[in-house]
Amino acid sequence: MLHFLLPWKVIAMNPMRLVSLLIAVILAGPCASPQSTAATPGPESGQAHSGKNATRRPTRRAAARAHETPSVVFSVYNDHPKLAIILVIDQFRGDYLDRWRADFKDRGFDLFLDHGAYFSNCYYDYANTKTAPGHASIGTGAYTDGHGISSNEWWDLRRNQQRPVTSVEDERYKLVGVPAASMPPNAKYVTGSSPRNLLSSTIGDELRLATQGQAKVFGVSLKDRSAILPAGRTANAAYWIDPASGDWVTSTYYLSQLPDWVNEFNAGDAIATAEQEANAEGTKNFFNDVGKTPAANEYELNFAEALIENEQLGQRDVSDLLTISLSANDIMGHAQGPDSPDEEQMVDALDTQLDTFFTWLDKNIPGGLDNVWIALSADHGVAPVPATAAGYGLNAAQIDVNKLVASLNYALNMKFSPGEKLQYILPHPDLPYVSLNEAEFMKAGIIEQEAEAAVEQLLPAAMDQLVPQAPEPVPSDMPNPTSGTSTAAQPSDTRLPPVPRLYRVYTRQQLAAGAYPPTQWGELLAHSYSPNGGWYVMVIPAAFQMGATRGTTHFTPFMYDRHVPLGFYGAPFAPGRYLDRVQPVDIASTFAALMGINMPSAAVGRVLTEALKPAAQVAYPRELPQREHRGAAARHEGAPVHETPAKGAPKTAAPATNPSKGSAKPAPQTTPPVGEPQKTTPPTPEVQKTVPPATTPKQPEPTPSRPSAAPAATPPQPQAKTQEAQPQ
Ligand SMILES: [Zn+2]
Repeated sequence: MLHFLLPWKVIAMNPMRLVSLLIAVILAGPCASPQSTAATPGPESGQAHSGKNATRRPTRRAAARAHETPSVVFSVYNDHPKLAIILVIDQFRGDYLDRWRADFKDRGFDLFLDHGAYFSNCYYDYANTKTAPGHASIGTGAYTDGHGISSNEWWDLRRNQQRPVTSVEDERYKLVGVPAASMPPNAKYVTGSSPRNLLSSTIGDELRLATQGQAKVFGVSLKDRSAILPAGRTANAAYWIDPASGDWVTSTYYLSQLPDWVNEFNAGDAIATAEQEANAEGTKNFFNDVGKTPAANEYELNFAEALIENEQLGQRDVSDLLTISLSANDIMGHAQGPDSPDEEQMVDALDTQLDTFFTWLDKNIPGGLDNVWIALSADHGVAPVPATAAGYGLNAAQIDVNKLVASLNYALNMKFSPGEKLQYILPHPDLPYVSLNEAEFMKAGIIEQEAEAAVEQLLPAAMDQLVPQAPEPVPSDMPNPTSGTSTAAQPSDTRLPPVPRLYRVYTRQQLAAGAYPPTQWGELLAHSYSPNGGWYVMVIPAAFQMGATRGTTHFTPFMYDRHVPLGFYGAPFAPGRYLDRVQPVDIASTFAALMGINMPSAAVGRVLTEALKPAAQVAYPRELPQREHRGAAARHEGAPVHETPAKGAPKTAAPATNPSKGSAKPAPQTTPPVGEPQKTTPPTPEVQKTVPPATTPKQPEPTPSRPSAAPAATPPQPQAKTQEAQPQ
């Protein structure tokens, strides 16, 4: 298949084809938007480049090819695709699909592996591989230095001096839909959430802007951060669950009350069914007890179907976007690890569940699945369970981070305030970051540079004081390389236990100043800088080492944490397996380019031209007959219409299989005009009835648009943090 795409083949092709291409270029005119290019995997593909923050650029040759491409302008301006879905699996390493590929059936994961463009070497290009930054990176096409999200939580002493704040909690808003039984005692509401810390726009934001709010954008996940961050600031809504009950909730940032269909979903039998499937009937901790089982993925996908149906996503003459983050793999994975039977069972179950979901989309989106684009990726990978890795001989130590903090505090007191017990290092370190107590240092007259330099200097000794210890035993149902059931080589009886080791340390000021080596490593660091989190030091232990005392985790710049799958399905994508090294940030850039909209404000991703069909070969199915009828009827009623497409742009014309321009005429009079109205709403956002985007900023800062009318008599309780405890 690839040989067809090779440019020298184009040049060497028969003269008639060449002539038709030239005619097509002339017809398309000088402003023609290249829908896709016939590019080859080449040196430009995902190769690292020198210099920090540089955007990866295709070669000049690729750029030239873009101009040669005949233009059949499918874009969001003529509702192509009907619906774009970004599917994120939480904690899903890039090797899983190959590892368990033989298990897959029909068109679950095989939709990407057999019928889509699948990149098996997709790696995040930053050093803080956590859930919140991963989801933000996918939505924004940028890294932490662009979108600002460095971790799941960080200390912000201006907002809270008792505990770290999460990446999305926002005390200016309230949660919506929390059942009474889940409310903290004496609290009238639960602290809300928002994308307040997101510094750049998302692909969804750009879609909303480009369509003047006509496109709908939603985010769904069990976790608040994973629903909110990939969708963005302009999303119509993001939904996640109340951890205790499993009810779907949102925040007053989006909606003042749940839509009827969400209330109906919560009141239905979905929760009970999921609990039953998870053998967790009546649980008071739905997030953990159901969330760690495949039933949680089904629960989420059922909600996504209800959302698509009730919000009419993909049903209108505009492209809609839905981000779905499936959390179950992470909740299970932290406890059991990537090599457990539970992991394989979860992947197999998800394969079946995706098959069901994709089949549902095929039946319920006008024109079927071929009118849908789906991108598949993950927010991060994961390390093997330390005991497993240590069993093979890797130096997979567990680090007692609380002890590390205590050692640092002792040494800092010795240095700056002998005889005292000041808490210079803040508790609850969230590696790879250790947070400094700015107030304590300032009291001692120590400025940030001196404070961070002191921590950097004291860290090696503090790490050395950690006593080597045998890793926690692997969970009982996992293959243990040190047991007789494994074929792995047995470690020598005289081998010493793994030793905690420091790999690298960087201060916030060093990161902010951009003093990086001109290497791939330097670029990782550059992409990890965040202005959030006050004074901090980035602490990177050696590979396979972690602070987790049970199970495993992810947070490092090492490949096992950065490797995720990347798959695309949809009309523009050339099926195949691509071995180039690519990045999750390429999703937003590729979607933006195909949609004909601006890339998100800080995007650094590359347009994956090697995985795109030549424009003339891109064909979308026509719409369903009843939809045409509906559109025509509404038109006669004089309902409002939204923006018409660019002049000369073919609407839903499906080009003939002949790639020559001459046969790709717009379909005459068989489909409704592009400006089919929305049935019930004015051309302003449907859900946000009280907050039109153009005139009233949704998130006035610092005064929220929809705070509680009467402040609670007692201070608002922070949202129950059970969901933050284990999964990351
Ligand atoms: Zn995650």
